[in-house]
Amino acid sequence: MLNLLEEIKNNQNIRTTDFILIQKAIDFSQQAHSGQKRASGEEYFIHPLNVASILNSWNLDSQTIVAGLLHDVVDDCQVPLALIEKEFGKEVKFLVESMSGLGLIKYRGIERTVENFRRLFVSTAKDGRVIFIKLADRLHNMRTLKYLPENKQKRIAKETLEIYVAIASRLGIGQVKSELEDLAAKYIYSQEHQWLMENLPSRIKERLDYLKKIKPIIEDELNKAGIKNYKLDFRAKGYYSSYKKLLKCSMNFEEIYDLAAFRIIVEDVSQCYQILGLIHKLWKPLSGRIKDYIALPKSNGYQSLHTTVFSLDGQIIEFQIRTFKMHEECQLGIAAHWAYSENGQLNNETRFKNSKFDWVRQLSQQFSNAYKNQDFLESLRIDYFNNRIFIFTPKGDIIDLPQGATPIDFAYQIHSDIGNHCVGVKINGKISKISKELANNDKVEIITQKNKKPSSDWLKFVKTTDARSRIKQALGIS
Ligand code: MN
Repeated sequence: MLNLLEEIKNNQNIRTTDFILIQKAIDFSQQAHSGQKRASGEEYFIHPLNVASILNSWNLDSQTIVAGLLHDVVDDCQVPLALIEKEFGKEVKFLVESMSGLGLIKYRGIERTVENFRRLFVSTAKDGRVIFIKLADRLHNMRTLKYLPENKQKRIAKETLEIYVAIASRLGIGQVKSELEDLAAKYIYSQEHQWLMENLPSRIKERLDYLKKIKPIIEDELNKAGIKNYKLDFRAKGYYSSYKKLLKCSMNFEEIYDLAAFRIIVEDVSQCYQILGLIHKLWKPLSGRIKDYIALPKSNGYQSLHTTVFSLDGQIIEFQIRTFKMHEECQLGIAAHWAYSENGQLNNETRFKNSKFDWVRQLSQQFSNAYKNQDFLESLRIDYFNNRIFIFTPKGDIIDLPQGATPIDFAYQIHSDIGNHCVGVKINGKISKISKELANNDKVEIITQKNKKPSSDWLKFVKTTDARSRIKQALGIS
């Protein structure tokens, strides 16, 4: 069994005074679950213990780890919430309560699913740590999914891919997203997965071997340039994202240059650009493959410089250059912000102002606009979990929207008045149709007129549920 008390020593956000509380939660959970078994036949306690260990690996605080240990004791052991509050305090009680399906028995089928998600987002809007516990819970359940009957495997894997992968992606937790989607794809696309297992590992190994070969050359360059404190690292692309890319390239492995990528991690941003220059002096870059996600981050906050070059013997390889801080953020996403606040204090208030949580807040607000269940799940998929694009306002602010969004969606995203009074749009300085699909990094300027009203035609092309409901509201239809 893993040794949690040993593991938490590596977590900078845990103080030695927290050890007693965590030990207490370990004992409490173990006792509550005693006699219960997992589908694997193991002791049930293995599950909350692993969930807590995952949370610890994200450097989360002691209350989150304690709640991870206790997350199933209400549903599975009928431990009263009042007892949890008495033993572990108000905040832990709130976190555990958010993980429990209290009173959900009266809901069935889709209603139950919707109710579950409603509660999840409402509590996450109150305390962001809820979503981390939920993701850790799902991660361990997915790692042990093979023990469940086939029909359950499919359902859980599908939900994971459609919702939890999307949540992890929106929160920028790349590490979790990639593992969850690989685990889920195995059950949903089992044939394709089989094929990948036969074809991918040898090719990734080939590329990694090659990267190892050029490592000394890069080291030499960095040393000559006087760059200290760097980390070189190789990353293999996940199975599922490789597969998605293969589909785009008619299954031709040769066209996927980043099956394995060479990562260079350094102290500061100016070194990132310096190294990009060094690499381009060494090897010719492929045109159109230089991506500056430092100046223009991806919509989930991802930052890095990417370049693809013709290296030794004309081999094509991808470099990813970033700072240590960016690296941590793209592995842990929002969890990285959670862990470190400026003065080393764990202050929920300031960390909640992080704009990465805006969509959770929006989502929980939408629940108050009475949604039909099916509609709600649908809007969850479309508005929040599709690929997002970045649109610039004339002032250079960034608005993130789902792919396929139009200027009208953009207008309503800024303010409902701007949406309601929209008469035209300029995209990148040119007058365009208000129904035109926006592209990533477009600069959009909405032209308004005071006495203008929305047109019901807009309903035919708007993409976001938000714009749709505001247009209907303005037109007086429900
Ligand atoms: Mn659980």
